[in-house]
Amino acid sequence: QYNKNINTPTVPKVQWEDIGGLSEVKREIIETINFPLKFPDIFSSSGLRRFGILLFGPPGTGKTLLAKAVATECNLCFLSVKGPELLNMYIGQSEENIREVFERARSAAPCIIFFDELDSLAPNRGAAGDSGGVMDRVVSQLLAEMDGLNEKATIFMIGATNRPDLIDPALLRPGRFDKLLYVGPSMDFNSRLSVLKALTRKFKFAKDVKLENIISICPENISGADFYGICANAWTHAIGRFIERNNNGVIDIKNMTGKDVEVGYEDFKSALKSVQPSVSLKDLLYF
Ligand code: ATP
Repeated sequence: QYNKNINTPTVPKVQWEDIGGLSEVKREIIETINFPLKFPDIFSSSGLRRFGILLFGPPGTGKTLLAKAVATECNLCFLSVKGPELLNMYIGQSEENIREVFERARSAAPCIIFFDELDSLAPNRGAAGDSGGVMDRVVSQLLAEMDGLNEKATIFMIGATNRPDLIDPALLRPGRFDKLLYVGPSMDFNSRLSVLKALTRKFKFAKDVKLENIISICPENISGADFYGICANAWTHAIGRFIERNNNGVIDIKNMTGKDVEVGYEDFKSALKSVQPSVSLKDLLYF
């Protein structure tokens, strides 16, 4: 009987075009995951292989999105687990859950295991507050499973964390999560523009919309998730205007679709009123 907290791995449907900016991180992930899959003989001949990538950075910056996009691109199943959900109060159950995650990944291989909030699953061993050494055993189990992957295995691990400093260093050694990639908010104009473009790919714009102008009125230091919030607000606002304008008894609004809705500059302006940047300067300095 499988644990209900562990999902069935499936190939996700996130395209690279859904992700704006982050071009360097995208390239590094593809090199680490796609190349060994495409050219297994070249890679396995040295006996050296990378299985794990750790994505770290502030919340909402696209870590999960990146992991899913690489799975889609490489046609890999994706098994997402949240650190805290694997932890269980019953003796031995957390270790058992970890064993089960790897077992599921093996049976779905080629597969990516995505460990969200890896810090909560693999904190520094011997840390204060670990009563009964539960976390020590969880980390040991995780290490044993990771070390059990051989160079021909088609299982990859991607970890995500906002607190890389809390992770047990043994997890970051070669052959484990040995590629650390920072995923931060897009800071320069062109990357911000590319995030906005990705999120509004399906919008129909009014003539007064120029995405460059919208970027210049967005606050600094905002994450991809903040951009998502702005676009979702703008879309809702545009629909509100659309219904108000057309719900006059002359047009049958029920026959209209989202494709009839035009998003205008004023919708973005209104959307921006309620958005607060979620990444603070303190967060950025921390990384
Ligand atoms: P957390 O650390 O909180 O788990 P995360 O870094 O994994 O966050 P995601 O879940 O990938 O962040 O991003 C949240 C949402 O924000 C995405 O579903 C997407 O809509 C949007 N988003 C984030 N980054 C980008 C980006 N670079 N391009 C387009 N959309 C983005």
